[in-house]
Amino acid sequence: MFDTLSDRLTAVLKNLRGKGRLSDADIDATAREIRIALLEADVALPVVRSFIAGIKERAKGAEVSQALNPAQQVIKIVNEELVGILGGETRRLQYAKNPPTVVLLAGLQGSGKTTLAGKLARWFADQGQTPMLAACDLQRPNAVTQLQVVGERAGVSVFAPEPGNGVGDPVDVARRSIEEAQRSQHSIVLIDTAGRLGVDEEMMQQASDIRDAVTPDETLFVVDAMIGQDAVSTAEAFRDGVGFSGVVLTKLDGDARGGAALSVRHVTGQPIMFASNGEKLEDFDVFHPDRMASRILG
Ligand code: GDP
Repeated sequence: MFDTLSDRLTAVLKNLRGKGRLSDADIDATAREIRIALLEADVALPVVRSFIAGIKERAKGAEVSQALNPAQQVIKIVNEELVGILGGETRRLQYAKNPPTVVLLAGLQGSGKTTLAGKLARWFADQGQTPMLAACDLQRPNAVTQLQVVGERAGVSVFAPEPGNGVGDPVDVARRSIEEAQRSQHSIVLIDTAGRLGVDEEMMQQASDIRDAVTPDETLFVVDAMIGQDAVSTAEAFRDGVGFSGVVLTKLDGDARGGAALSVRHVTGQPIMFASNGEKLEDFDVFHPDRMASRILG
C-alpha cells in the first residue's frame, strides 16, 4: 500500500541526512521533491499546495533544536503535516443518547458498501453493541439477498422488506427498521442504501429522503480508494447532495498510490473514520491518521 509514495518520501528525506543547518535552498529543493511525490501519488492539487506551504513555512521557521538534527526535524515536520492532512486526531463514532444509534451508509455501487456493512456490524458486535442491518438498497435485484448473506456471515440480524410486496419503498423500510430495532432492543441500525455506478440525482435524492426520515447519528460516505482523484470528486458530490459526517475508505489493499486517502479529508472537511483493506470480515479497522502517516514514512 502506497509503496511508491513511501519510497519516494523516504529517498527525499534520506538526502538530508548528514547535512548541518539546512539553507532555504535545501528546504525548497526538498519541498519540490515532496510535491512531485504527492502529485505522482494522485493527491489533489489544493491538498498538495497546502501541504507544501505548511512544510516550507515550518521548516524555514524551525528553531535550531538540541535534540534533533536538521534531517530529523524535517522528517518530524513532514510526519506532522501528513497526520494533519489525514485528519489529526482519530475521530470516534457518535452514539445516540437513546438507542438505537442510526448509521447511514452511502456511496456508489461497487464501492464496497455491502461488504462494509457486514464488517461494521461485526466491529460493533465486538464492541459489545447489538447491531442490526437494514436492507434499503431495493434498486439492485440481488442487493437484499447479498446483505442477508453478509449479515449471516457477520452473525447479525438483517431487517429486509417482506418478499412478494413489490419493490418496496426504501424510506419506509428504513423507518420500520428503526421501530423494529427499538422493539427488539438492537443498539445500532446500519442502513445500507442504493448506489449507482456514477453520481446520479435519483440516488442522492433517495439517500437524502432516507436521511430526512431517520435523522442518522452518523452518515458515512463509503468510497473505493482505488479510484484516486475520482474519489475526491465523488465525495464532493455526496457532500453537496446528501451530506455526511465521516468517510470510510475501502480497498486500501489494492491502492498503490494513496491519492484518495490523502485528499478526501482536506477536500471534504470530514474525517476518515474507518478503512477496509480486503474482502474478509476482519480486513477492517478504525482509521488512525498517525498510524497511517507512520506507515507512509516507513
Ligand atoms: P457495493 O455495491 O457498494 O455494495 O459493493 P460490494 O460490497 O458488493 O463490493 C464490491 C466488490 O468489492 C466485491 O467484490 C467485494 O468483495 C469487493 N471489496 C469490498 N471491499 C473490499 C476491500 O476492502 N478490498 C478488496 N480488495 N475488495 C473489496
